[in-house]
Amino acid sequence: MLTAQQALDHLLSNARPVGDSEMVAMQAALGRVLAENVNSLVDVPPLDNTSMDGYAVRTVDTQNPGSILTIAQRIPAGSIGTQLEPGTAARIFTGAPVPPGADAVVMQEDCTTPEGSTDQVQVNIAPAVGQWIRKRGEDLRTGKTALTAGTFLRPQELGVAASAGLTHLNVKRRVKVAAFFTGDELSLPGEPLKLGGIYNSNRDTLLACIKSLGCEATDLGIVPDNLNATREALRKASKDHDLIITSGGVSVGEEDHIKPAVTAEGRLDLWQIAIKPGKPLAFGAVRKSENVKDGEGGAQAEAWFIGLPGNPVSSFVTFLLFVRPFILKLQGRDEGHVQSYPMRADFDWLKADRRNEFLRVKINAQGGLDLFPNQSSGVLTSASWGDGLVDCPPGHTFKAGELVKYIPFNALLS
Ligand code: AMP
Ligand code: MG
Repeated sequence: MLTAQQALDHLLSNARPVGDSEMVAMQAALGRVLAENVNSLVDVPPLDNTSMDGYAVRTVDTQNPGSILTIAQRIPAGSIGTQLEPGTAARIFTGAPVPPGADAVVMQEDCTTPEGSTDQVQVNIAPAVGQWIRKRGEDLRTGKTALTAGTFLRPQELGVAASAGLTHLNVKRRVKVAAFFTGDELSLPGEPLKLGGIYNSNRDTLLACIKSLGCEATDLGIVPDNLNATREALRKASKDHDLIITSGGVSVGEEDHIKPAVTAEGRLDLWQIAIKPGKPLAFGAVRKSENVKDGEGGAQAEAWFIGLPGNPVSSFVTFLLFVRPFILKLQGRDEGHVQSYPMRADFDWLKADRRNEFLRVKINAQGGLDLFPNQSSGVLTSASWGDGLVDCPPGHTFKAGELVKYIPFNALLS
C-alpha cells in the first residue's frame, strides 16, 4: 500500500500545466488562474491623502496643544489643494490629497472652533509627523508586480487588479474535465429507483467539486458495469478533455471494469492507498482518438485518468486529497500542499487504524472539534454535517483535549 503522500507525489510528478491562456474582462476572471504577472499602471494611492475627516496642518505650527490656525482652504475628495502657508490649516475630507506643505492631519474630533470664530480651528492634540496620511504608492507602485502568475483569482485579487488600472486579465484556459459514474445499481434522481438500486450522488458531488475549482465539467452520465460500455465512455471522454474522472469500479472484483478498460484504451496504475475512507485509486491516461501530437498547440496526446472509489464519502475525500492538487497543477496554480491547522479534539479517538484516517468533524462553539458519530464511507451526511476533516496518521490515537490536524472543507473547494 502507498501512503497518501507517496500517491500524491506520484500524481503531481506527472501533471503538466495546460499551456493556453486568454484575455477576459475583470468580472469574468473570478475563479480563474492568472497566466502572467500583473504590473501596476499607477501608484496606489496616486497621491498622499488623508484617511480621516479633519484638518491638514504643518506640525511646526501645532507643537503646543491648543494652537489656533486659520482655515485657508477646503479640500473634499476628488479636488486638489494649494500650498499650505505657515499658520494655516486646510479643512480636508477622507480620500482628499494632502496639500503641499502639510505634514500631518488632525482628525476633527481632536479640534474645536475658537469662541466667536468662523475661519479658525483650535488643534487640541499635537499631531506626529505623517499622522493620518496614507502615502502615495504605499499599496502598489507603478510598474511593480501587483499579482503573480499562477494566482487563483478571488474577489480581492480582481479589486487589486482594478486598483492597478487594469480592465482585462490574461488567464489560463479552463482545464476540461469529463466525468462518468459506473454502476448498474445507479439511477438518476427524478427516475424511479431500480430494485436494489441507489441514486447517483457522486455525479452532483464530483461535478460540483470540478466546477468549484474553476474547471469546465462534462457529465458523461451513468455507465453500466461492463467492459465495452466502459471503454466506449473512455473514448468519448478522452476527446477534448484534459482529465477524466470516474467513480466506482476501481476494486478488482468481476464487476469492476475500470482497470481492464483503461488498460485497453491507454495505461493504468491501480493503487491501494493506506487511507480511510478511500483505499483504491486508479491513475493513468487514455489515448486521444484524434491524432493529437504531444505538445501541439498546448495539447496532450492523452487525457489523464483518475478513477475514484464508488462510496460517496470516499470519492469526495479522495477528490479533495488527490484530484484537487492534480487539477491545481494542470491549472498552473502556485499553491503548495494543503494546509492543516492544529485544533483541539473534543472527542476520544481510541482505535488505531493501519490507515491514515480522514474524520468528518465540525468546529463547535467552544473552539474545539466534534466528531460525526457515523464515519462510514457510505454516509454522505457526515460530510454535509461537517466543516472539515481531521487528518489522523496511521496507528495514531488521541483523547479529548489533544491537538489534531484539521483541514477545512472550504480550503479544498476552491
Ligand atoms: P464500487 O466502488 O463500484 O464498488 O462501489 C462502492 C459502493 O459505492 C457501492 O455500495 C455502490 O453502490 C456505491 N456507489 C457507487 N457509485 C455511486 C454513485 N455514483 N452514487 C452513490 N453511490 C455509489
Ligand atoms: Mg460498482
